[in-house]
Order: sequence, then C-alpha cells, then structure tokens
Amino acid sequence: MDKLYLIKIGEIALKGGNRSFFEKRLKKNIKLDLRGTNCIVSGGRGRFFVEVNKEHSAQVEEVLSRTFGIKGFSVVKRLEKNIDKIIEEALIQASENIKETGGKNFKITARRADKSFPLNSYGICCALGDAILDNIEESVVDVNTPDWTINVEIRETAYVYSHVLPGPGGLPVGTAGKGMLLLSGGIDSPVACWLMSKRGLKIDSIYFHTYPYTSDEAKQKVIDLATILSRYTSGMNLYIVPFTDVQLKIKEKGFEKATTLLMRHAMVKIADRVAKQNDAGSLITGEALSQVASQTPESIRFTGSATDLPTFRPLIGMDKEEIIAIAEKIGTFKTSILPYEDCCSLFAPEHPLTHPNFEQITKEFIELELDELLNTAALETEKLYLGGE
Ligand code: ATP
Ligand code: MG
Repeated sequence: MDKLYLIKIGEIALKGGNRSFFEKRLKKNIKLDLRGTNCIVSGGRGRFFVEVNKEHSAQVEEVLSRTFGIKGFSVVKRLEKNIDKIIEEALIQASENIKETGGKNFKITARRADKSFPLNSYGICCALGDAILDNIEESVVDVNTPDWTINVEIRETAYVYSHVLPGPGGLPVGTAGKGMLLLSGGIDSPVACWLMSKRGLKIDSIYFHTYPYTSDEAKQKVIDLATILSRYTSGMNLYIVPFTDVQLKIKEKGFEKATTLLMRHAMVKIADRVAKQNDAGSLITGEALSQVASQTPESIRFTGSATDLPTFRPLIGMDKEEIIAIAEKIGTFKTSILPYEDCCSLFAPEHPLTHPNFEQITKEFIELELDELLNTAALETEKLYLGGE
C-alpha cells in the first residue's frame, strides 16, 4: 500500500459515551464503499486512516468526499517520530506547495497527541518554520493568509501533510436508524434524501407508479435517481407501488378539488405500512412550505395524518433555488428535470384545495373505501436493490 489518507471527523467528536458506535459505523461505511480496492481502514478516537494502492486514489477521494461523518481528509506522509525526519519531509512538501501555488507565504500547524515527544506543538512549529525560512529564499511566515500550510501530528507515529480536502460533514449513515423516503421523479425528494442521510438516517425509497398514465420512462427515471442516491446512502432498497387503481378510484369518486390531497394521503398510508414492514421508523418527503397547494399547513396536516411515524421534511423552509443548488451538487438535478410526467400532475385538479377542512376531507377519504385497493397495492409492491455493485 503506497498511499495513506488521514480522515478527520466532525460532529461525531462531540458524542459522549456512544461515540465508538458512530466511529464503528463510519469505518464500516467507508469499507463498504471501497470494497474491491483492498484498502485497509483503521484508527479510532477521532482519527481514521485509509491505506490504499495509488491506482485507487481517485476512487478513495471520491468516496471520502461524499461519506457522511467525514469533515475532511488528507494525503499524509507517515514518518518515525524524529524531528530531523519531519523537517526533511516538510521541506519536500514546501517545495511542492510553492510549485502548486506560486506563493511563499506559509504557516505551520502542529498537534502533539503523544506528550512524550520532546518538542511541544509550539516547538515543532518553530523548528519547521526556521528550517523553511533558512532553506527557501523569500519564504515568509503568514498565519492569517498563507499560500500554503504544512500540518504535523505526533501520535503513535508522526504525520505530515499539506492539503485538507473537504468531506460532507454530518453523521455516518445508519446511526439514526432507517427512514422511508417518498421518492418522486422531481427535484425535491432526492435532495430531501441527501439531507436526511447526512443526519445519519439509512434510507430506503418508495415510489408510486401510475402505469400507463405515467410511462416506463418515468419509472426508469426514479430508478436512476435512486441509483445516484444509493452512493450516498450505502445502497438503497426501492419499493415501487402499482398505484393506478387507487388513483382511478379517487378520480372516479369525484371530490374534484381534493383529488391531489386524497391521493397523497393514500400514498402516505401505504408508505407507512411498507416502512413498518421493513423496520423503517420514519418517513421523509420533499415538501417545502407553500411551494404548491398540497404543501400548505392545512394540506400537510391532512396528508401527514395518514401515519403516526415522524415525517421528516428537511426542505420545509427552503427556497427552490436553494434546493436546486443542492440537487446540482449531489448530481440528481439533470435526471430530475427530464420531461416525464409524474402521476400527480396528470391527475391534478384545475383548482386544487389549498386550505382543506380537516374533518371534511378526512370524511371524504373514509368514504372512498380504499382499504382493499391499498392492501392490494402494498402486496403487489416490487422491490429493487440499488448500489450493490
Ligand atoms: P418533488 O420534486 O420531490 O416531486 P414536488 O415539488 O413535485 O416534489 P409534490 O409533487 O407536491 O412536490 O410532492 C411532494 C412530495 O410528495 C414529494 O417531494 C415526494 O416526497 C412525495 N411524492 C409525490 N409524488 C410521489 C410519487 N409518485 N411517489 C413517491 N412520492 C411522491
Ligand atoms: Mg413532484
């Protein structure tokens, strides 16, 4: 193994007694996503290492930059705890940094976790700083706006590195149990998935398909979105519910203005059941307050009343532009905007209710007598696993 990465964690470091639970999960997630590379993942108590052969470094960097729980990571040089060796390596990295940045203003940071090392962190900074000033003409110490920084850590051995690449932060996927995402083909629900994975939820998805009113392409689009999302969620089950009969019955009964809300309530009812059958303890949707008629407080009260599971709506306070910026960052936007109709827009009333009366619309839902159709839809649900390559 010729390449070593040092991983720094973010919020996990604030955990108390159950910190090792979070750390173990992080290691497991990294190993899972890097299977096939023969990498070695080690460490604990705030610092992790991935050792890998050079040919896999692009893959490692791609995985670490999207693995929740990681604050940042660096390619590091491992050395014995000898100040002369550390200085020698610092001078090599200093020359490389000058080539890369074209600048000579620098900063040294040092951490001494091993207190038996003869120099304290200030002493290490001074020793390295002096060596660089002596050996590199026109170099200047600049702690506020350096062109480059050399970092030293003294632990069981010494580490020297210059670059810290950003991780996504958050908590390792799987540390908050499992949730069921209502995944449509739109822009919002994939972003909701990413945001809740970031808080440690393991996520499976459920999609309501209204064939032939929504096409096979629309279904494939949702599969493609789930495949992209599965990179962040360490794999994902996708449940595809045949929803046509439910949808048609709602339409046929003719509470015209309430159609979308009744249909959403039915979706949540099925999602609740599939979630509970598969050990998911929460639902997730891409709703944002007042974005459309079905997302007013009164509408959300009714659609949300179809489940007693907590429903996470991480986009609730976000503008569309903010949501799109995340969709672009996580790579779902281009797929989301492919022009296949979703079932909701096809069956949407011309003048949808925005402020339903809760008692009245609940009564209308009961009058639909959907139980049998909901049972059948849940029973005929298809299950796919994505991200298992
Ligand atoms: P999105 O961009 O996620 O489709 P949207 O702005 O189009 O959201 P709606 O169509 O009102 O909003 O849907 C609100 C939420 O309901 C979606 O974010 C998603 O969680 C869920 N949802 C809507 N349609 C479906 C569907 N066919 N299958 C699964 N979930 C759905
Ligand atoms: Mg939609």
